[in-house]
Amino acid sequence: MDSDQKILTIAGTITVGELAEKLSLPVVKLVGELFKNGIAATINQRIDFETAQIIVEELGLELTLQKKDQDIATREPRKLSTSAAPRPPIVAVMGHVDHGKTSLLDAILDTKVVDIEAGGITQHISAYQTKRGERSITFLDTPGHEAFSALRQHSALLTDVVVIVVAADDGVKPQTIEAIKFAQAVNAKIVVAINKIDKESADIARVKSQLASEHGLNPEEWGGDTVMVEISAKTGKNVDQLLDLVLLVADIEELKADIDVPCEGLVIESHIEQGKGSVVRLLVEHGVLKVGQFIVAGATYAKIRTLLDYAGRPLSQAGPADPAIVTGFKQSPQFGDAFIVVANEKAARAAAT
Ligand code: GDP
Ligand code: MG
Repeated sequence: MDSDQKILTIAGTITVGELAEKLSLPVVKLVGELFKNGIAATINQRIDFETAQIIVEELGLELTLQKKDQDIATREPRKLSTSAAPRPPIVAVMGHVDHGKTSLLDAILDTKVVDIEAGGITQHISAYQTKRGERSITFLDTPGHEAFSALRQHSALLTDVVVIVVAADDGVKPQTIEAIKFAQAVNAKIVVAINKIDKESADIARVKSQLASEHGLNPEEWGGDTVMVEISAKTGKNVDQLLDLVLLVADIEELKADIDVPCEGLVIESHIEQGKGSVVRLLVEHGVLKVGQFIVAGATYAKIRTLLDYAGRPLSQAGPADPAIVTGFKQSPQFGDAFIVVANEKAARAAAT
């Protein structure tokens, strides 16, 4: 070693608390430094890699930050075994802020997402699931704020179908365009939900012509191949039809996952809760997750103490495309960390490095 410059590897985003821990700094010091840079952040808030890099430089720390290259974007798709079984589609709800993404999820789910969110703004990716007849559909809600574009990008990469929510009274906006580009970049199927059609000022034809002329998304009734549905997240109008269309579009893909393998998937969010320790939201990709299993994620591991569904209801098991909340982790894993179930604590300890 020619210098004592340390290299610290972090993922694309990191919470303020985690970064402070990694830098061996008091959280208040980091929060103060962020504040000086015009970012008012709390301990559980995520900052992106670039922000972390600026802060490290400004603090004059003798270390180099390196982005973890285990990026979801570059992950190889897994080769499925012959016993792979059909799985629910994973659907990202994207679009411009205030166009009704979270309201749509509220119309679909049996819990009120809006009520749980701080200040009505989606701060992190969340996963939800609903049933349409016998079939499950998994949804990802993504933050609308500019600073979270990395998060949105990650969620798009997990995604089979992107529902692009466009408010009929507001039309195509920058994040609508961003969502279209993401969907196209990751080869996800697009379903356009033209929302707020209950409003006096709704102009559905204008939205369609914007999408068609400027973004090449031609509605089927104009001879194109983009599935569009006119909805109101407020009154619930055509929301069932939207779900049917999502399933129809997903069916073209014949989505499958392995069942008879050690469970694996991705960490989509984690935070500390008083009395519970690290509370970690996961999305299962293959295999089956159960209480008591040993699970490794990033540099930490857990013996799963509790296994809950997206709304906090106890689950006996979680399978492919199921969102789950688990407790039992020694420390908080990071968003984007892959997780895998291992045989026992010894294997977990060895793998968690
Ligand atoms: P998000 O930022 O895309 O998640 O948007 P929200 O779901 O938070 O909705 C933004 C605002 O639009 C809220 O005040 C909602 O009540 C309102 N809103 C959402 N959907 C509809 C709708 O279909 N009709 C009407 N009239 N208002 C809606
Ligand atoms: Mg929202």
